[in-house]
Amino acid sequence: MPMKGTDVAKKLPKRKACKECGFPTCFAFAMKLVAGGATVDKCLYLSEEIKAELEDALAPPIKLVTVGSGEATLKIGNEEVIYRHEKTFIHPPGIAMLISDKEDEGAIEEKIAKMKDLQFNRMGLTLKADLFALKFESGEQAKYKTLVKKVCEASDAGIILLSEEMGALFAARDICADRDPLLYPITKDNIEQAIPLIKQSPTPVGVKAESVETLIPLTSRLKEEGIEELVLDPGSGNFLELLRDQTIIRRAALKQNFRPLGYPTIAFPCFLARDGLGEILTASMCVIKFAGIIVLSDLSEESLLPLLVQRLNIYTDPRMPLAIEQGIYEIGQPKDESPILVTSNWSLTYFLVSSATEESKVHAFVCVKDTEGLGVVTGWGAGKFSGDSVGAFIKKSGIEERVKHRKLVIPGKVARIRGELEEALPGWEIVVGPREAGELPGFLPALARSLTGG
Ligand code: SF4
Repeated sequence: MPMKGTDVAKKLPKRKACKECGFPTCFAFAMKLVAGGATVDKCLYLSEEIKAELEDALAPPIKLVTVGSGEATLKIGNEEVIYRHEKTFIHPPGIAMLISDKEDEGAIEEKIAKMKDLQFNRMGLTLKADLFALKFESGEQAKYKTLVKKVCEASDAGIILLSEEMGALFAARDICADRDPLLYPITKDNIEQAIPLIKQSPTPVGVKAESVETLIPLTSRLKEEGIEELVLDPGSGNFLELLRDQTIIRRAALKQNFRPLGYPTIAFPCFLARDGLGEILTASMCVIKFAGIIVLSDLSEESLLPLLVQRLNIYTDPRMPLAIEQGIYEIGQPKDESPILVTSNWSLTYFLVSSATEESKVHAFVCVKDTEGLGVVTGWGAGKFSGDSVGAFIKKSGIEERVKHRKLVIPGKVARIRGELEEALPGWEIVVGPREAGELPGFLPALARSLTGG
């Protein structure tokens, strides 16, 4: 079980009214430490031994592991609950596409292109796969290195290097060490050979065993050597074993705070399933049942999009409304005479308004105001979509510089803010739009004509 605040307080030096940690008492500091709102190093009076003990005891039960760098950084682990409804799942699993160095040039090019092309815009978010899993199968190190170089030059996506042969694995690591690739697999047979090589240029490693139990000595050995950026593969042989093993690892980490299994996992539907449908169903189970990285044999729009949407849904915080960022969104290619609509930043509202505007074939600006994820009526009720606040947002948004007219369409359901908004935006004409977004295709063309004088 994680350490309690009272137990942490007993370990602190209790210097009277010292307050150098920024808290009024040692007890207050202890409580903040347990809640994750402070770090042990803020108290300068702890011995190294107690500091290490507290850091270990207060570390999250599932370690946060980072694979990749820059824009392609993928963070996995650090989960706090077994069931999503208990709180929320935090770090969505990375989705990887396998490429073998035995595949022909054409197939490799096609797969690299798919990683770029298969990106989907949904409610203001870009959904896409995250990593390439590059497999050494040819037996020719030069060929493998060529594949790694080619993928690195063509794409910024994260990299997993898969090779049973240590020479090929670390030669490939040296090509892309700056991209923080995941090295896989570290096993009981290669661990001693791998440890010094990993330490030369540390990147995350995938630990593979024949079972959950046999993972334990491997992760313990790596931890002894200070190698803790680990991703676990318990070697599950089929769908049911995968479900069982992922569940055991998650429960051991969260319920027993069992450190040797307190790492995110990797799953390979590409090797387990017999066909494409089986593979995507296995991947779908992995999204729900705890995988940190899911490796697929290939990507296709039909299978990837549902998987990405499922991932988005499962990893959305159930306590928070899904919101998009405040700002000006362009629908089509709006010009300085195009209509301007304003709405709230609840994703569903934006999705409905933008889809209906697209359907109208009118190019327009949609100004999305931050209402903390509330719809327009609820946002108005909560004072986040009042005439004053919408007026202040419009002034700050920069839309005035982008159009030569001064007409703003507000949602019909909050027609009551019109007067207040006209006062907040002198010189603007406030147009009350339809009550339902679905009526926009009938409303916008006439408005667009009036703005162009057509
Ligand atoms: S700095 Fe350390 S000793 Fe001082 S109040 Fe904070 S926890 Fe206590």
